Amino acid sequence: MFLKRKCITSILKRRNHGWIKPEGYDTGIKVFNCVTRDKQPLIVKNKNLVSWYTCGPTVYDSAHIGHASCFLKLDVIQRILKEYFNLNIVSVMNITDVDDKIIAKSNELKISVQDVAKQFEKEFWQDLDSLNINKPDCVLRVTENMEIIKEFIRKLMDDQKAYKATDNSVYFDVHAYESYGKLQKISEESLEPVHFKKSNMDFALWKASKPNEIFWESSWGTGRPGWHIECSALASHVFGSEIDIHAGGIDLRFPHHENEEAQSCCAHGKTQWVNYWLHTGHLHLKGCEKMSKSLKNTLSISSMLQNTSAQVFRMACVMSHYRSSMEFSPEFMTTANNLLTSYINFFDTCRNYSDGYIKANINNDVVNKLITDTSDKIYQALTDDFNTPLVLKALSEVVTTINSMLHSTQSDDGARSVSIITISNLVVKTLSIFGININKRDVNASENNFIEVMDILNSFRQEIRQLGISKRDQDILKLCDNVRDNLKKCGIIVKDHGKLSSWSL
Ligand SMILES: [Zn+2]
Repeated sequence: MFLKRKCITSILKRRNHGWIKPEGYDTGIKVFNCVTRDKQPLIVKNKNLVSWYTCGPTVYDSAHIGHASCFLKLDVIQRILKEYFNLNIVSVMNITDVDDKIIAKSNELKISVQDVAKQFEKEFWQDLDSLNINKPDCVLRVTENMEIIKEFIRKLMDDQKAYKATDNSVYFDVHAYESYGKLQKISEESLEPVHFKKSNMDFALWKASKPNEIFWESSWGTGRPGWHIECSALASHVFGSEIDIHAGGIDLRFPHHENEEAQSCCAHGKTQWVNYWLHTGHLHLKGCEKMSKSLKNTLSISSMLQNTSAQVFRMACVMSHYRSSMEFSPEFMTTANNLLTSYINFFDTCRNYSDGYIKANINNDVVNKLITDTSDKIYQALTDDFNTPLVLKALSEVVTTINSMLHSTQSDDGARSVSIITISNLVVKTLSIFGININKRDVNASENNFIEVMDILNSFRQEIRQLGISKRDQDILKLCDNVRDNLKKCGIIVKDHGKLSSWSL
């Protein structure tokens, strides 16, 4: 016992928790690094190919809003890297289509493992699509890549990094990797041997088959791969021995990502496989510590979308920093909706100004300085670990200032300030980088000449109303008000500005 403890202590002393700063293209972004536990410069190997791997779902049930917030926050970061920092990303995701939970579901539903996986994978992509989350460039299913996974396990066994235990399963030997605990500290006690394993922390690379269960043949026995090895093998298959970014929810940091890093470093003979691990914070329902299927307190994505639009949910995710935990509640969704509405109204006000419905005296120097200051704030926020809440704060300051200018400084000369149009475009473009579209007219533009029809109706009502004003005919004006009120019921807002009228959605 004493000797064993001494041996473990020496391993802990030798353990290297260091992070190696990669060589390559410095993006100018600082990103939180869970190995150093502080923000580090994001240096990608090649500006023309940022390798990005996301741990995909185990397809045994409907995805819930916890999954939605994770994939949505990662989608926002990918959009920022692509559209704001002009980086090319190649993204890869695995689909775990064989697993204990899938097997249990197939027994419960009395359908094959393959049919369970197909059904819930299809639903997963539909959910992502309904949330406007971009699909990865490359999707790899476990059952379609079994030879690649077995080859990875064989290499680890050949190199004495993995062993077959008496239960016929193959385990990774954590003592063979001196940096185990790099991503998250582990206690000395957790390395104690247990049953047939050399250490309590040793994890299955290959699970020996049980009677009447789906299995694959291998030279070390029938069975199926463990969860951790899938990601290492599939990610390495595409990207090799170095990956820029590997992402997932914070609950994956340990043990899943720790194990991925350990076995991949051993297989590739390197001290660092992934250069940056990105972890998104938890989402939990108000009043619940944790949302999980076992606690039966989950809300599916499709159920959530019955009451909350995808755009409002996206706004809520952008309001919360990607690493922060987030509480899902009706109050929070209302706050997100109010913020989204304030941007939509701002855009409509600016459009009414540029269309000549609102006439205001604009000090271009003041607006131009606001454009420069806001652009700086956006850059500072996004280079500081993708701080989207700070970007929204800067945009809301713009909304407040410009709304006040447009509503309080009357002018009759009809001059249009380019700076107002520029700052409006800055707000629209920044939100569109996050996947938020506030130009509702554009959204509906393709539908049945809707804008043309509305412009004709608005123009007709405006002329009739002007006639009513010049003849002081209350009946005509009342009819015009009725049209305005009825359109409002359809979600179309008509505003009268003196003799002119504008419309928005
Ligand atoms: Zn993974």
